[in-house]
Amino acid sequence: MTGAVPFDGHAIAPETAAFLAQSHRLLIGGDWVEGSGELVTCDPATGLDLARFQTGGPAEIDRAVQAARAAFDGPWRRMTVAERTAILQRLARIMESRATLLAQLDIIDNGMPGFIAHLTTANCVEMVDYYAGAVMRIAGKTIAPPRHIAAEAEALTYTLREPVGVCGQIVPWNVPLSTAILKLAPALAAGCTVVVKPSEETPLSALALGQMVLDAGFPAGVVNIVNGLGAEAGQALAEHPGVDKIAFTGSTATGRRIVTAALGNLKKVGLELGGKSPVMVMPDADLALAVPGVALATFFLQGQNCMAGTRIFAHAAIHDALVEGLIAFANGMTLGHGLDPATMQGPLISAAHMAKVMGYIAGAEASGARLVAGGERLDRPGHFVRPTIFTHCDNAMPVMREEIFGPVMAIQRVETTDLDALAALANDTPYGLSGSVWTRDLSTAHRLAARIRSGQVSINCHGAVGTNIPFGGYAQSGWGREFGEEGLDAYLETKAVTARL
Ligand code: NAD
Repeated sequence: MTGAVPFDGHAIAPETAAFLAQSHRLLIGGDWVEGSGELVTCDPATGLDLARFQTGGPAEIDRAVQAARAAFDGPWRRMTVAERTAILQRLARIMESRATLLAQLDIIDNGMPGFIAHLTTANCVEMVDYYAGAVMRIAGKTIAPPRHIAAEAEALTYTLREPVGVCGQIVPWNVPLSTAILKLAPALAAGCTVVVKPSEETPLSALALGQMVLDAGFPAGVVNIVNGLGAEAGQALAEHPGVDKIAFTGSTATGRRIVTAALGNLKKVGLELGGKSPVMVMPDADLALAVPGVALATFFLQGQNCMAGTRIFAHAAIHDALVEGLIAFANGMTLGHGLDPATMQGPLISAAHMAKVMGYIAGAEASGARLVAGGERLDRPGHFVRPTIFTHCDNAMPVMREEIFGPVMAIQRVETTDLDALAALANDTPYGLSGSVWTRDLSTAHRLAARIRSGQVSINCHGAVGTNIPFGGYAQSGWGREFGEEGLDAYLETKAVTARL
């Protein structure tokens, strides 16, 4: 890194240091404007303040929605698909050229390890390119006209795909840039305009993205970014009668509030919510693959991952060997600052969240689960909790049922290979986001995958997301799908036109 700037014993790019030093306002109608409040964001690896940022409430949300509406009815609507493609491609190139800034902001604001931040930033660029390429493929159909009209005259029926309109997009803190981009990119490709409300825990990468949107030349008001508290800015956005669709990623509890808030104007709602995903390890699993794969199913992103596979059903034939391998893997994980290249696991997002995770750990021990790895926080600044493993769990325990959103794995030993019985265990949850099956038997793999009720099942791997692969939840893990063609579809209406000729 040329001209690297020291940062808490590590180094950041000069561009990142300069970004941190600037004022952080709200992006409304193409301008950086003053908010009505201010919050501070901190580095969860040190607990030290990173930056002050301005926040908005109902008044700023209203201004942003009006700006988005004016852009939707005006210049954005009038752009050709070729122009819309080109501007999205320009955004992708700017993001690519400033990828270090975007990745470093998520590292220091969220605490994620550097290898994850660089990977997710590259995926974000890919996603903008993917949806830029999809703009020209948006197309309706011709359909046989209604019988009563066709009986009397020649007729033509066709469908148009039109943008849903002004979209509110509320994103969480666990993968800040990615969760913003996977809403923003398809919405813009569809021709919608957006008001983005980042998480108050991780406001920074969205602000850097906002500047890139301006640099790419998007018309004023197409993208608006209003930081603020969930109960103020988020709630105001979800309630706003001028918003046509609200797309939300976050906890299932907040998802319920979003649905209630959206009732006023019956706006469309997309929800990507929590998970407690099952990991089914069969007696013939390849343990050389399963040990690191199952460990990372839980510990990737310090377990602050909606897809996390945290309920492990291990067949008795491999249980002890699997547990032994998982303990060694967990104890060997290097915890540290995301800017340190050796770091495999970073800190939890906040002291409050760490206290919640430690509460679950204490509760699991009290409920009879056996702690075999971790279980404690690191004696150093920052919110570090060691990768933690419980055995002797059963599906009724809170550690097996509730989304802990931390590095906590719960293992239940199972004796059966009956696929219906295993599926019943896997599906005994209010969630349905992800899951994985570990076996060498192709027939077992696909038959069990078919029985698991979730939006995603991976075989001999876990959490296999991809730009072009639909992702979303069954049951209380959400409504609708993001990524891929379904992700674009979520921002399009279908209009049927019939002409009596
Ligand atoms: P959260 O629900 O606390 O907050 C998410 C967002 O909602 C934040 O921007 C917050 O400010 C806002 N918010 C809070 N209260 C609100 C309200 N009353 N009205 C409107 N907005 C409000 O979630 P979090 O703690 O930031 O994120 C972790 C959760 O997100 C976990 O449950 C995780 O599983 C889930 N998640 C799901 C996916 C997915 O794709 N399914 C992806 C990432 C995270």
